[in-house]
Amino acid sequence: MRAEFPDFRLGKVLATSFTATLTERRGNAVERIPTPHRLVDWLTVSGLPVDSCTTAQLDLARELRESIHAAATAAAMQDPLPESAVHVINDRSVEGRAAAILTPEGKRQWRLGSRSCVEDALSVIAADAISIIAGERDGRLALCASPTCQAAFFDTSQSRTRRWCDMNTCGNRQKKARFNANQRKNPRPAD
Ligand SMILES: [Zn+2]
Repeated sequence: MRAEFPDFRLGKVLATSFTATLTERRGNAVERIPTPHRLVDWLTVSGLPVDSCTTAQLDLARELRESIHAAATAAAMQDPLPESAVHVINDRSVEGRAAAILTPEGKRQWRLGSRSCVEDALSVIAADAISIIAGERDGRLALCASPTCQAAFFDTSQSRTRRWCDMNTCGNRQKKARFNANQRKNPRPAD
């Protein structure tokens, strides 16, 4: 039953939405695409629908995901990009066939070379990662301030001071922790 799988953390940036299919990397990691079927689900809600996915394609996807994570983390810390990660991202980018399509409503859609080709979808994700890591897009790569997360995210806020990959999860948890710490420091006077 699909309902038993962890839900997705969808963001506005395709590449970091994808890396967020594994969360809490520095804590109790949660794998959000544990089966080929869940990758199909994720690609569908992310505008890259495919018909099917094999275990080998899921492995390819996870390898790309961790490579994007490694390269984006290095970029956020202004470290040299890990060579092997760059290799994987480039291989996935080159190997897929996908075309950008303009809809009559003026929206961009991706047309994959084949409906069963996960590789085509991965090439779109790899290209998206390249555009943010290369600094071509308006925003800043940063690392989530939650110690159990530290996910690389793309900050497009005006002030570029976003601290968490996701306000509803990491942001909230941090705020609650701070609130509880304050409560302990300033306990309510006993009656
Ligand atoms: Zn986070």
